[in-house]
Amino acid sequence: MRQGKQVALVAGGAGFIGSHLCRALLDRGYEVLCLDNLQTARTINLQPFEAEPDFRFIRADVVDPLPDAIARRRDISRIYNLACAASPPQYQADPEHTMLTSVVGTDHLLRLAEQTGARFLLTSTSEVYGDPEAHPQREDYRGWVNCTGPRACYDEGKRAAEAMAFDFARSGRADVRVARIFNTYGPNMHPDDGRVVSNLLCQALSGEDITIYGDGSQTRSFCYVSDMVDGLIALMEADLPELAPVNLGNPEEYSIVELAERIIAETGSPSRIVHRPLPVDDPRRRRPDISRARELLGWSPRVTLEDGLQRTCRFFAAEIGAPCEQIAP
Ligand code: UDP
Repeated sequence: MRQGKQVALVAGGAGFIGSHLCRALLDRGYEVLCLDNLQTARTINLQPFEAEPDFRFIRADVVDPLPDAIARRRDISRIYNLACAASPPQYQADPEHTMLTSVVGTDHLLRLAEQTGARFLLTSTSEVYGDPEAHPQREDYRGWVNCTGPRACYDEGKRAAEAMAFDFARSGRADVRVARIFNTYGPNMHPDDGRVVSNLLCQALSGEDITIYGDGSQTRSFCYVSDMVDGLIALMEADLPELAPVNLGNPEEYSIVELAERIIAETGSPSRIVHRPLPVDDPRRRRPDISRARELLGWSPRVTLEDGLQRTCRFFAAEIGAPCEQIAP
């Protein structure tokens, strides 16, 4: 440990949310070990850390035994597990690996938490609620998941990871936190990520057709990444009265058509909307009940969709070399 520094391990730290979390932890005075297999990450996300003496990148896959650079460390006090492809087309590209990443990867990191005494945070997902009958989704809703469908590798993998984290906690092997992350967007997303905000913004900025899957009446609730990172750190640092998962997300709900219209207005894009088939098992609606996060963490999102889309638009405009004329600097 560098003099007086706490050491945090961020698995999946080169990814979209992970890279923002690494920045926030460095800013809070942590030494940060970033573990990533670079499967879905933008390597450029790591560039700003190159000159940071308290940042170390280790390329490895959490499915494999942890590399010595991590396994031998006994001074790690926080383990954030964000390692897993999270965009449907990406996590479905190699479903076996997706499942193993959640299950075997979480096991490896929980064992490290047991050995080091580090506090462990699992990033789970709103996908554990499947195509929910309950709305908005509270943490005690047990979900409506198709365990044999194309999304199962992700949502069943995360459900198994939650089960394992809770068993480690119940048996006193590790101090765990479980965040259920709802749709999150912002800078550092990969333009080819395949998720709705990155797809629609890039399409609008480059004048391509805007692809809405199905009729676009399905809903999602979009959380800006800085709010998400604040929530993750708050959850990690909180002393919780009981072992329970915590929803993190923005409870403002929009249909995908509404999102597309806002993006077109925001970018002043001439793009037209086209409809494509709805993916199998695509949830009809999704909105977090964040009462628990408000109560236990004093956390709630602060960035509006308008503000967040402007910031994200500027990022993608620079990324793909498109003008973003409507956007204020
Ligand atoms: N979607 C869409 N057009 C796209 C990408 C996604 O209409 O180009 C829809 C998708 O079918 C889903 C919603 O937008 O209903 C959110 O999809 P995303 O992949 O971002 O995340 P999900 O919440 O499904 O995991």
